[in-house]
Amino acid sequence: MPLLVMKFGGTSVADLDRIANAAAKVKREVERGYDVIVIVSAMSGKTNELVGWVEQTSPLYDAREYDAVVSSGENVTAGLMALRLQEMGVPARSWQGWQVPINTTSAHSAARFVSIPRDNIDAKFSEGMKVAVVAGFQGLSPEGRITTLGRGGSDTTAVAFAAAFGAERCDIYTDVDGVYTTDPRISSKARKLDKIAFEEMLELASLGAKVLQTRSVELAMRYNVRLRVLSSFEDTDENSGTLVCGEEEIMESKVVSGVAYSRDEAKITLFTIEDRPGVAQAIFGPLSEAGVNVDMIVQNISEKDYDERHPGAVTDMTFSCPINQVARAQKALEEAKAEGKIRYDELIIDTDVAKVSVVGIGMRSHAGVAARMFESLAAENINIKVIATSEIKISVLIDRKYMELAVQALHDAFELEKTA
Ligand code: ADP
Ligand code: ASP
Ligand code: MG
Repeated sequence: MPLLVMKFGGTSVADLDRIANAAAKVKREVERGYDVIVIVSAMSGKTNELVGWVEQTSPLYDAREYDAVVSSGENVTAGLMALRLQEMGVPARSWQGWQVPINTTSAHSAARFVSIPRDNIDAKFSEGMKVAVVAGFQGLSPEGRITTLGRGGSDTTAVAFAAAFGAERCDIYTDVDGVYTTDPRISSKARKLDKIAFEEMLELASLGAKVLQTRSVELAMRYNVRLRVLSSFEDTDENSGTLVCGEEEIMESKVVSGVAYSRDEAKITLFTIEDRPGVAQAIFGPLSEAGVNVDMIVQNISEKDYDERHPGAVTDMTFSCPINQVARAQKALEEAKAEGKIRYDELIIDTDVAKVSVVGIGMRSHAGVAARMFESLAAENINIKVIATSEIKISVLIDRKYMELAVQALHDAFELEKTA
């Protein structure tokens, strides 16, 4: 029997009516002859509420209990979805992660898949079950504890099941009708893409476009899963939405294909550090041990002996990290200073920044993208604080208050509202 994976995000299962609407979409695929694995998120807002309860109860919480609490939202929707399908006459049952079992690492709140044995679910399909409803976002550690996969993780559950069960396609139903050139909630000129290359989607996701969790795109690329994003609120068919696929399937070739943003950034500068071999290691080693995800880094050119307190060459180092890791970063740096491992005069923390990025595989073969990007930001009088580039993206850190303006200016500058 051909098999489909259908994933419904939080807004798509936000209440009983929406669960019924999603179930009707599932039933339609069953009537077309598919066995279906449905992956569900928690009802919209539920995970945030659960995280809040954990933080109120225990600010420095035990990550295992965090996962036990936070994973529970998906259990409710999985059961309700199975019940609704049964009411519609579709043979369905729910599965929590541990029942499959979805084996993961024990990195609580950021677990990764180890294996998804098919036996239990396959046995039920062969007994006539048509739909397995699986709670997204969760798994089981080798120690037998419940794990979660990081925010937005149900996308990754869906792709992992599509890979494990050889699904014909993995359909991600959400509150927008596809992947756009930028977040349609930020720019009314955003244009829906029919197709987007894995590499581009991977960059957009990792640079903040939360329509797909980054890890889900990585997995889809590795296992060549046909991944599609489409609306749970509209009538859809096999041509709806956006297909995330290999570069070779894409006809449209624009130099830049999308603009992403991330609000949750912070910038930390260490003033007057020594400029000597090993100093970067002395700074970023402790940050990495403290679990800080350092993103952009700039080191100034060296100044020499600018006063008697600083014999030898000195410089400044700036980096960015997620805003919720600032306290951890600060603690790690202050401890390294107290232990004499690093020297700096001052730590400047700026939490009012945002990252805006342009992405496109066409950048590999076209020069001038950076110049155009900087020109358009300059025209809006937006100051750039840090720049980072890779083969297919350019990111800048700017004041957060200019974020939306920057996204719109870049969308215009690269004429993303027009097709190629
Ligand atoms: P779900 O709850 O279904 O997982 P998410 O809220 O995680 O949905 O992701 C969908 C949201 O992603 C959209 O509502 C949209 O605001 C946002 N988004 C950001 N960038 C993009 C983009 N380039 N294309 C489409 N949606 C985007
Ligand atoms: N419910 C989880 C979250 O809100 C996982 C998901 O929806 O993908 O992050
Ligand atoms: Mg999501």
